[in-house]
Amino acid sequence: MQKFEYIWLDGYTPEPSLRSKVKVTDESNAPDWSFDGSSTQQAEGGASDCLLIPATTYPGPCNSDFLVMCEVQTGSHEVHPSNTRAAAAAAASDEWWFGFEQEYFFTNSDGSPLGWEDGEPRPQGDYYCGVGATNVKGREISEAHMDACLQAGIQITGTNAEVALGQWEYQCFGKGVKAGDDLWVSRYLLYLIAEEFDVGVTIHPKPKTGDWNGSGMHSNFSNEEMRTAGSESLFTSMCEKLGAVHEQGIASYGSDNDMRLTGLHETQSIDTFSFGVSDRGASIRIPIYTVEHNWNGYLEDRRPASNADPYKVIAHIVSTLS
Ligand code: MG
Repeated sequence: MQKFEYIWLDGYTPEPSLRSKVKVTDESNAPDWSFDGSSTQQAEGGASDCLLIPATTYPGPCNSDFLVMCEVQTGSHEVHPSNTRAAAAAAASDEWWFGFEQEYFFTNSDGSPLGWEDGEPRPQGDYYCGVGATNVKGREISEAHMDACLQAGIQITGTNAEVALGQWEYQCFGKGVKAGDDLWVSRYLLYLIAEEFDVGVTIHPKPKTGDWNGSGMHSNFSNEEMRTAGSESLFTSMCEKLGAVHEQGIASYGSDNDMRLTGLHETQSIDTFSFGVSDRGASIRIPIYTVEHNWNGYLEDRRPASNADPYKVIAHIVSTLS
């Protein structure tokens, strides 16, 4: 018998939450399944069945043999309104590569960040990439999470303690819509593993107001032309295209992002679009890597919030630039 842990996005707004349940079966591949959509804001009680359609299967690094990222369909096999994956899958072929920089805070049971039990800690300065018990909180959880993702075959390319105490980042690389699957499953594993430590996770973009960094999900991306046949005019025109639909982008990049995109703390204001080489105060940064490689490389969209749905980010960027 095998244990398949089905994972899906529920119908909550503005951002969905992750849900899961386990199927034990002697089948070798994960079959389609169903769940009670009336308990996840995805159906009415009188017609509550929603369908789980397996999209991507991973080796299970924790208790299950496999993790199964699913798309949700209605009981009549239509794409469910909550299913943002379908649009991303239709837009993005595997020539589109994404590197998501997921920032988040670990939290105590009262919602305060880990390390903030006795009130506000010392001002920011020592915590970013810090070491030592007074500078870093939650490293053991971050490391367990990274190892679990790697065991699942998710390409985590790095992790670091972030600017605020209790804040962390990891970077997650993928191609096409699977980049979105991998990021969602990496988030699932983050919640799951922190749960074992009795610690919470918040991906809200601004858990603490004041002179504290918020959390983003800087989204690095490229396609074949950008990587191998790039030019200054290509990269400039791509930035301009994204700038022309800035408001649509912001609408796809997570709620409460106005609390984070203030123009301070290495962000551009949410009402302004700008791009520039090496500019961490811009909406889109053209990395020096790209310029030094004769304009072959990638772009970094710095606008997505830490709570953004990567499927929406993928769909917005690819549909704007294709
Ligand atoms: Mg960061």
